[in-house]
Amino acid sequence: MGHRARSERSITSQGRNATVAENGHTEAMLSPRCEPPTPDRSDEPLAAVARLADRTAVEGPWRSGSFAALASGGVLRGFVPAEYGGTALPEPVITATLIGIAEGCLTTALAVTQWAAAVRLIGGGSLDVQAELLPPLARGDTLTTVGISQLTTSRRHLAAAALVATKPRGDGAWQLDGHCPWVTGADSSDTIVTGAVTDDGTQTFFVVRTDAAGLTIDPPLEMLALTGSRTSAVRFAGVRPAHVVVSPAAGGVRTGGLSTTALALGAARASAAVMARESVTRPHLTAIAADFAAEIAGLSAALMAAAHHGIEPADRDRLRADANGLVVRAAQAALTASKGAGFVVGHPVERLVRESLFFLVWSCPQAVSDAVLCDLAAR
Ligand SMILES: Cc1cc2nc3c(=O)[nH]c(=O)nc-3n(C[C@H](O)[C@H](O)[C@H](O)COP(=O)(O)OP(=O)(O)OC[C@H]3O[C@@H](n4cnc5c(N)ncnc54)[C@H](O)[C@@H]3O)c2cc1C
Repeated sequence: MGHRARSERSITSQGRNATVAENGHTEAMLSPRCEPPTPDRSDEPLAAVARLADRTAVEGPWRSGSFAALASGGVLRGFVPAEYGGTALPEPVITATLIGIAEGCLTTALAVTQWAAAVRLIGGGSLDVQAELLPPLARGDTLTTVGISQLTTSRRHLAAAALVATKPRGDGAWQLDGHCPWVTGADSSDTIVTGAVTDDGTQTFFVVRTDAAGLTIDPPLEMLALTGSRTSAVRFAGVRPAHVVVSPAAGGVRTGGLSTTALALGAARASAAVMARESVTRPHLTAIAADFAAEIAGLSAALMAAAHHGIEPADRDRLRADANGLVVRAAQAALTASKGAGFVVGHPVERLVRESLFFLVWSCPQAVSDAVLCDLAAR
């Protein structure tokens, strides 16, 4: 294949008191104390991602070289099991890496997250499927993405399933009909991992080649932010998937996981960095910048603790909701500090403000949306 609202409840307060556990890893992606890395200081692939961010926002990470930098720098391999050419980094390292990528370039971080979700689902496939698909993905020779929101957080109020899987021909082969409303990087990927509802109402997951007959990728959506993610709707008319990857019983779908919170904290760090820079010559901003830095540190500590030790679903949702509130407030504080200059298109802060709003809609389970709405309504 070719390339192509603040809350003083639960986790917030826990997070401020939490300590980050040692994990003993010495990978370049992680500082010895397991703190999220700073792209321009410690890590060349992440530094490259940050340098390419302006190009990536326009061209997308697949064309700007950002994704390639992560592949050649070995970052992608961290998400893949060792037996299939990966380095199988532990969850805390992955989480810290995602924070670092998101601080440098949220478009790239979104693309990596969707790539990683697809890789995780492929990991639920047969050994043959894993052996065929995972090594080239680990090397960055092929690219994949995920289109599963029709089973999780999109179109759930509608009576009919958005994407259905049937076996109409009597030969035992699956056929997909319908659509995925959201697929990041669809037109830049070789395959899409998607999920459909079968005749008996169960969910089944498939790998589909993007050049399969009957598959149409709509033009990428023009969005409030992250248009460079080349997110499209994908339509299926009698598409034959290349592989079935995971049975519903294995539970492949997860929303509102730690990676979404990692991206929110990375984006908040980018805004906090602006505050810190502005405060160098404007001492009255120092205390505000320090407050944001402390809040980010607290939630990051809670996130890293969750990555090390696990977290209850309700606490995970609260953590995500707290990170959502933080990223939006941090961006608006950076804008306030940057004044009118930050309001002009092209200033880094206007992009940070637009991008912060992404977290209000992306991969938000109902519990997270409800918590964010309560925070916004100051309930
Ligand atoms: C930039 C971006 C990239 C994304 N990339 C991916 C990706 O790569 N893969 C992926 O799987 N997903 C992706 N998503 C999808 C995302 O995770 C969410 O699923 C999506 O944002 C949910 O929004 P929706 O409009 O589809 O929700 P919907 O629930 O479909 O809501 C659409 C509209 O329906 C109405 N509505 C909603 N709920 C109800 C109700 N209960 N009763 C009546 N009316 C209702 C409202 O008017 C609403 O505006 C992406 C999203 C964004 C913004």
